[in-house]
Amino acid sequence: MRALRNRPATLLNTAEIELWPGGLLRARANRDARLLARAWRVLRRKRDGRYLAAMLPEGLMPLLPRWSDEPGIEEALDALDAHPGHRRPGVERVGTLPLHRLHERLGSLGVDADGYAARTGLELVAEPGWLAFAGFDRYRRALWLHPGAAGGWNRMREAARREGVVLEAISGYRSHDYQLGIFERKRARGLALEEILQVNAAPGYSEHHSGLALDIGAPGEPPAEESFEHTAAFAWLRDNAAAHGFGMSYPRDNPHGIVYEPWHWRFA
Ligand SMILES: [Zn+2]
Repeated sequence: MRALRNRPATLLNTAEIELWPGGLLRARANRDARLLARAWRVLRRKRDGRYLAAMLPEGLMPLLPRWSDEPGIEEALDALDAHPGHRRPGVERVGTLPLHRLHERLGSLGVDADGYAARTGLELVAEPGWLAFAGFDRYRRALWLHPGAAGGWNRMREAARREGVVLEAISGYRSHDYQLGIFERKRARGLALEEILQVNAAPGYSEHHSGLALDIGAPGEPPAEESFEHTAAFAWLRDNAAAHGFGMSYPRDNPHGIVYEPWHWRFA
């Protein structure tokens, strides 16, 4: 990836819009693909992943009509102004986004936020203000993590590799909007809210929102299945992950009532 050498491998995060480095995004149309490859930053709507505008060396190029009327556009343009160059923001200044709009969204899904929190013991998880590029996942998508977790993951993966064990990232940071989209699609397929909540944390309550958690897999193994516990990758993690700062969040019979997830690890 030539683009990554001289462009910021960071994802700037705002409530409604993410600011991606251009070199990591794909487009169906050739014209858009060329634009995205050249862009310093691409403004991407979190709700559905649509590209709104690209910041090019010659200026801002619209990618969607009326992009400037988008909710949250002011905040996104402020973030662009605050990080005009290619310098990485300081790790000590990651910060988190406010949670204020989340209750409204949970209400629209029919989730009683207080009841859910009391029943599961889970807490609301804020999104970080920016995320670090941590390589690619199994599906060749950019893997975004909190900068501390990104460093920890790369060191851990390399340590495993030296012992002949391949760890694959399945999924890292996910936004509240992304989790909301999972619920909306499952509801549209006719699943009841309670059924979805048995396998997916309610939007706002997933550790993936923090950028500190990631799902790990092994080559040739199906993603996010309990059978992962029988792999060499899992055996290695069980013995070595703690030394790299990672712990399993949802062991068997965890107090949150979440199904056993041998693939889900969190950086502390
Ligand atoms: Zn997970």
